[in-house]
Amino acid sequence: MSCSLCRLPFTPSPSSMAPRWPPDGILSDKQLQYMKHAVGMGQYLVGLVVNLVHLDNNMFTINNSPVLVTIVWETGNKTFIALHTHCAMFFRHNLGLTSDCPGSLIECSLIDTIVGPTQGGAHAGRLNDVDYEGVLGDGSERVDIESLWSKGPSEGNAHFDWQEWKQRGLEWTAARPDVFPRFRPTILEARLSSVGERMATTDIITTQSLDILHILLPYLSNKSYVNLIATCRTLRYHALTTFQPHARVRVLSLGWAVPLESEYINYVHRMRPDLDIADSQPEPATEGGTQPPIQSSPPSPTDGTSPVDDAGLETRLDAMSLSLEPMSSHRASRTAILSQLEMAHAAHSPVHADWLHYLSRVHRTPAMRARRWVWALAEAVAQVYRRKRAEGPFADLEPDDDDSDEEGGLDPEQREKWGKLPRKSDAWNAYAQSVMQQLVMRRLVQGAGAGNGRGPRFTW
Ligand SMILES: [Zn+2]
Repeated sequence: MSCSLCRLPFTPSPSSMAPRWPPDGILSDKQLQYMKHAVGMGQYLVGLVVNLVHLDNNMFTINNSPVLVTIVWETGNKTFIALHTHCAMFFRHNLGLTSDCPGSLIECSLIDTIVGPTQGGAHAGRLNDVDYEGVLGDGSERVDIESLWSKGPSEGNAHFDWQEWKQRGLEWTAARPDVFPRFRPTILEARLSSVGERMATTDIITTQSLDILHILLPYLSNKSYVNLIATCRTLRYHALTTFQPHARVRVLSLGWAVPLESEYINYVHRMRPDLDIADSQPEPATEGGTQPPIQSSPPSPTDGTSPVDDAGLETRLDAMSLSLEPMSSHRASRTAILSQLEMAHAAHSPVHADWLHYLSRVHRTPAMRARRWVWALAEAVAQVYRRKRAEGPFADLEPDDDDSDEEGGLDPEQREKWGKLPRKSDAWNAYAQSVMQQLVMRRLVQGAGAGNGRGPRFTW
């Protein structure tokens, strides 16, 4: 049984009646523990979108539920979508379906219908029309997990060749994609002194004013940028100091290289349980992910919006501060604490932190390699999903001209802010009606609101 995104297997729960374990030594205990968890989504799934544990032998069970629910994965040569925990997180993020509101959950359960039914047999769980193998590129960049699957003895029991997976050097694909390199909020003195003595220069690059370099640098790819700053001590020193905001923009533009907001909040809760960050009003951690890549559209240096234009940035911050209330001391101390955490964040981490070091590290660890890959897979599925949704019966309709509130529940202020919302198609509304029962069951099987919450739960 395999993940519909990364295509790797799920490992069995120790409670499984018929577990098929990977050969000894292939995965660590932590990996075995992590990969037994899944998020399932589909119209025939009780709860529509639920947390599962893999029981092997073509079965999942809903985790941590007050009622025992086991679910068959492959039936009639197709499956519901099951994803590893982080695969599900990236999947929903890239599809814009992170909310647990009814509309978002119903849409999640529609994905396999929109993208095309998942396959069965040796390719059970695979979504149609997604170029899984080529998301990172061709040639040596291709990642082929699919060819390691072969038909099994019965439905939902395809065989995965773990030994071959290891032999092909694909172990990095099972690295947990949430292990971030340590972020350095300040630049180590040793890094600065390692540059050594800077000599007077006469070449055409280093004799330019810094303003000119700030304008030129966004035109370079990450690789060219790293190559350039390695050419001399002067540029290396600038890269460690003045150009750090430039490295920051590069990190944020990658999208996958910083934690999602939910991952960041979990990290803060773990590291600083005393800290309340509920009202810290952070910018989305992945703001860079929604911006065009640096290489394709460098910002104009003259429009005052250049992300590396320090003067422009300061002017904008000054302008903003005029309209802000003075920061309370409580909030100021929280901001100071967040700025010193060793986790990169678009809003909380200092602009002049060691982003260059971080940029280099996210391209080196197996965990970040896996993260970049799964993120690219999620983007690829999202692309197919958007195209097929727009072409099919579930495409949104143009907003109505009259002011009738099709979406319901919006107060006038929200309507003013969001403008007219697209309307759901008849097919979408009919589908939503048909799965209402499963949606209502979600509260029960996920445990919320069931009795006093102290009853026994089936936790695997
Ligand atoms: Zn996965």
